[in-house]
Order: sequence, then C-alpha cells, then structure tokens
Amino acid sequence: MTDVHIHLEGGEYTLGWLEKFVSRAKETDTDEIWLLEHSYLFREFAPMYGCILGKNAFTDGWFSRRGGIRELSEYLALIGEARRRSFPVRVRFGLEVCYFEGAEEFVRDVTRGLGLDFLVGSVHFIDGFAFDHEAALWDGVDIDRAYRRYFESSVRLAESGVFDGIAHPDSIGLFGFQPSFPLDEYYDALAAAVSNSGMYAEENAGTYRRHPDTSPFGMNASLIRAMKRHGVRIVTASDAHTPYDVGAGIREAQRAVDSVTV
Ligand SMILES: [Zn+2]
Ligand SMILES: [Zn+2]
Repeated sequence: MTDVHIHLEGGEYTLGWLEKFVSRAKETDTDEIWLLEHSYLFREFAPMYGCILGKNAFTDGWFSRRGGIRELSEYLALIGEARRRSFPVRVRFGLEVCYFEGAEEFVRDVTRGLGLDFLVGSVHFIDGFAFDHEAALWDGVDIDRAYRRYFESSVRLAESGVFDGIAHPDSIGLFGFQPSFPLDEYYDALAAAVSNSGMYAEENAGTYRRHPDTSPFGMNASLIRAMKRHGVRIVTASDAHTPYDVGAGIREAQRAVDSVTV
C-alpha cells in the first residue's frame, strides 16, 4: 500500500522525527510514503495568502499562528539528509500547495529547482473563504455558489500544469453542506482536466477521519467513476499529521475506489 499524503509539520525537521513516520509505515504495512508540507508554513509562500486575510478574525488568527513560520531551506536540508540514507520503505518528498487562481506563476517560481519529488495542489480556499476551517465560517455563505467556485477552481488547478496531483478532490462537503444541484458535470470536467494534465487524484481518508459526523469518506462515487472513465490514476492518502496516522484509512480508501465500477 502507498500513502501519498503525510505531513511532518508536528515536529522538527530531523531524521529522528522522520524515522517515526517510517516506523509507523512498517507497522501498518505501508511500503511507500509521500511526505509533504503545507505551503502556508513557509515564509517563501506567504505573499500568496494576502487574499485570504482581513475577511474574518478566525482565519486571520490561524494565519498569524501558522503562516510563514518555517523556511523552505529547513525542509530541503532534511530531504537532502534523508536521501543519503536508506529506509525500509520508499520515501518521497513534496509539497501540498494551496491553489489560488492567478498564483500559478508565483508557485512555479517558488518551487523551481527545489528538487522535490512531487507537488500536489489543494483547493483550501474559495475566493479567499477558508471553507474547511470550521463550520461556523459557512454562516451566510451561498452554498451553491461555493460549490460552483470550488469546482471551477479545482478545474483551473488541474489545467494549470503546475501540479503532479490534486489533493482531496471533493473535500468541500466536509461539514455536510450540500448544493441544490447535481455535481456530475463538474465531476466530469474535473476528471477530464486531471486526465489531460497527466495528474493523479487522491482518495483521501483524512477529511472523514477529522469530521466523521458530517463528512463523506473521500470522493463521491460519481467522481471516482468519472476519474476512472478518464483513466486518472487514483492514489490512497491518509492526510496524516502525526506519525500514528501514517496509513490510516488507506485500505478503506482503496476499497472505496475498487468498489466503483465504470
Ligand atoms: Zn489539504
Ligand atoms: Zn494535507
């Protein structure tokens, strides 16, 4: 099994901390782990987040605590050290980059020449709205419009050519808010764009693990079906933020993917 979405961010960038993730991968029979970090953690990406600030105190507080607190060079130094070691599981290193329409060239510039194994793009914000932070932020939000903009942004992410994969597509339903219209056309457009760009799509167990009362597990079956119809490679992801969660839910994720027939 492969787990393509694991965050190191809860500890220092040391080989000792990395080895805890490797050990847990061994324990859970996960033979390949993809480590990544959120773009917002790094000072170099901070200018990209101006558009989310000044909208509400919750998001401003979050960014002042979490935004730009590390340097890419710290993460790259760990990657360099790790690549001189051998591990009992395959280890790859990348970034989970928040996608903002219009920031494509900025992302290309910041990530050029870093020598990362992969970049996965994530829609975490809809026109600056941090839809996945807490349910109360949805108060007064036009749900249909949020869904339309989420999927339009996801399609542009896929068309941008900047990313190797798309993280947790369909995560917008995490607090249980549903649109009044069917999503099949958006699903098909997203799957087509992901396919045209040769990207992978995650079946990500993390959203459900964090919000089991309101979130569906991973992608809607219709989106999985569209991805399969378009020949997209679907990969399993825990979205672990601790060593313990390495591999969490990836077997269920694989079963969810396998259970959908085209
Ligand atoms: Zn994410
Ligand atoms: Zn993540």
